[in-house]
Amino acid sequence: MAVIFKGVEVVNSLKEKLLQEVEELRSEGVFPSLAIVRLGAKPDDVSYEKGAIKRCEGLNIKCSTFEYPEDFPHQDLLNEIKRLNSDPSIHGILIFRPLPSQINENELKYVIDPGKDVDCFSPVNVAKVFEGDETGFPPCTPQAVIEMLDHYGISVKGKRVTVIGRSLVVGRPLAMMLLQRHATITICHTRTVDLENVCRQSEILIAAAGKAKMVKASFLSPGQVVIDVGINVDENGNLCGDVDFDEAEKVVSAISPVPGGVGTVTTSVLAAHVIKAAKLQNKKA
Ligand code: NAD
Repeated sequence: MAVIFKGVEVVNSLKEKLLQEVEELRSEGVFPSLAIVRLGAKPDDVSYEKGAIKRCEGLNIKCSTFEYPEDFPHQDLLNEIKRLNSDPSIHGILIFRPLPSQINENELKYVIDPGKDVDCFSPVNVAKVFEGDETGFPPCTPQAVIEMLDHYGISVKGKRVTVIGRSLVVGRPLAMMLLQRHATITICHTRTVDLENVCRQSEILIAAAGKAKMVKASFLSPGQVVIDVGINVDENGNLCGDVDFDEAEKVVSAISPVPGGVGTVTTSVLAAHVIKAAKLQNKKA
């Protein structure tokens, strides 16, 4: 039977360190604060926001939601982001994406202050991930995968690591972060030939495809560590990952479940990024 990598254990071990960092900032008169910007009320956004607020408040980080109608004009949103950029009491800004079609994300991403961009929307932060420059803010989900591997003592150095998915929010930055840690990376996607075989050859397999239970026993081999990033709904309406958990846990040596895996850690990473932003802004002040 596989070891189960539980998100809550990672969250608990991060909590102590983050609480101490917030305490240090508060003693210097800095009160870390996150602005969450949302257009409309998509259930996924609202549910993530609730989790983020709960996590941040548990760490004494202030959270304010800036909610606008779904048809909020592009120029007005630019102005709001500029206002948050220049507000010294706000250290981090999270904008829910994808945004409605009247918003030009390609313009907006150049407007958000890279120093406040805690979920890697700005091209400056994307570039920093690819350069291995740790002064930036990588996207929270790939960073949550790294935190999970670190917590469970899984070194990727020199290992064959396969990532399924090449999106700019998960697969691609994650591959770069693993490369920075000296993994030998294979990135798979919808055009990959013989995906099962490629996956089977890897020592660590990370699934971020967004396809319910697509990774079956035939993709897996004994001794593998499997991290499941996918968040999907199965045929019975239950939350599930990209990996068929029941099949996988009989084969591999360790696996993160869905729910209760990577997703749980994401809001702790978000909180850690707000603290990092507050520290950097405090140093500059
Ligand atoms: P996306 O749709 O933008 O990208 C999916 C990627 O997977 C694409 O690059 C595609 O080529 C690849 N892919 C899709 N089907 C495939 C297949 N059958 N074989 C091989 N490759 C395939 O999705 P995303 O935003 O990168 O998210 C991926 C998954 O991670 C989704 O389930 C999403 O819900 C989840 N997610 C989880 C968190 C979290 O906090 N845990 C955060 C963001 C996204």
